Amino acid sequence: MEKLLVQKFGGTSVADAGRIEVVADIIAKTISEGHKVVVVLSAMGEETDRLIDLAKSIQTEPNLREYDALVSTGEQISVALMAMVLGKRNLKAKSYTAYQLGIKTNKMHGRARIVDVKVEKLIKQLDKGVIPVITGFQGMNEEGDITTLGRGGSDTTGVAIAVALQADECQIYTDVDGVFTTDPRICPKARLLDQISFDEMLELSSTGAEVLQLRAVEYASKHDMPIRVLSSFSEGEGTLVEEKEDMERPVISGISSIDTEAKLTVRGVPDLPGVAAKILGPVSDAGIDVDVIVQNISADNTTDFTFTVDQTDASSAEEILKETSESLGGGSIEVDDNIAKVSVVGRGMRGQSGIASKMFQALADHEINILMITTSEIKISVVIQKDLMEKAVNALHDTFQLDKNLDT
Ligand code: ASP
Ligand code: MG
Repeated sequence: MEKLLVQKFGGTSVADAGRIEVVADIIAKTISEGHKVVVVLSAMGEETDRLIDLAKSIQTEPNLREYDALVSTGEQISVALMAMVLGKRNLKAKSYTAYQLGIKTNKMHGRARIVDVKVEKLIKQLDKGVIPVITGFQGMNEEGDITTLGRGGSDTTGVAIAVALQADECQIYTDVDGVFTTDPRICPKARLLDQISFDEMLELSSTGAEVLQLRAVEYASKHDMPIRVLSSFSEGEGTLVEEKEDMERPVISGISSIDTEAKLTVRGVPDLPGVAAKILGPVSDAGIDVDVIVQNISADNTTDFTFTVDQTDASSAEEILKETSESLGGGSIEVDDNIAKVSVVGRGMRGQSGIASKMFQALADHEINILMITTSEIKISVVIQKDLMEKAVNALHDTFQLDKNLDT
């Protein structure tokens, strides 16, 4: 059956001329199997990093309009080269920038959101047998200025184009074989998953798994567009991220970890209505994302309040917190960046009790002290000391037997 596929290739997949030829092989093979393909590319290798460094060497806080104009050029190079390589093989291919296609975004330079994708041009080209090769990561705002979608944003471009074209699947080619039960660099027993649901992938992506950009998963989930994550470096079916009815499933599907957050505590703030809002309001007004939040039960009408933020935001959050604490008559501020967060994620925990205590017991058995705990319907996260992260991930991987495929 003929399928319409969007194939997105990441930076490592197109890092040099040789790699572009390998990717062209993959595209050519898909075409020869009778499918229609739309290609979306990232910038070559570390090109985006290089462009960002260049911008910052001129101005530490570059003008955002010009920053986007600059960093979006990486993708323009890869699409033109790819169209040339495909053309050399007598495949009809044409490169397109987001501007040429009218991929509209909001005005948030540097982290814009796609609001509209026009597909008439693409459909015309596909009907003529042309392979469109599209720049990932970029769009245009109402003013016609170039915007970019945030780091890793080409994934989102791929998904948005697949949704607009009502493609059968959005294939995200990368340098790993797919989505694993946990990071194989941390846990040698990590196992490749053949399938995972959107809600599990969302939890994993938002708690440290780096394989897919979170926004891309959100977009795909909202529009029910299946994503297949697979490697351009080796053969294999990869992992299908899709909506699927719950069958017999393992309780835990994956474990994620992150060690780039810092924990801030303000001591002895009054235990009164409105205090949490007074503490976190100014932090969020400063554009700082807050992750885990814990407020203690009060003793003598005051309480300690702790939350985590990205390490890069820790010192600005500390400044803000100092002012808040002073105005509330609270106590001292403590900042600790020697932490990691480990999360276990699985739809199967919905109907089962005792998963949290099993997790905590496993950590206890390995003498890992828990500093903070937070849960959602399908996730339990703990904050622990940073140097225990690897030990915790491996212990939990063993405890929940993630090396075994209990799915079948
Ligand atoms: N080239 C951009 C980046 O490195 C977008 C992407 O690769 O998805 O973040
Ligand atoms: Mg990239």
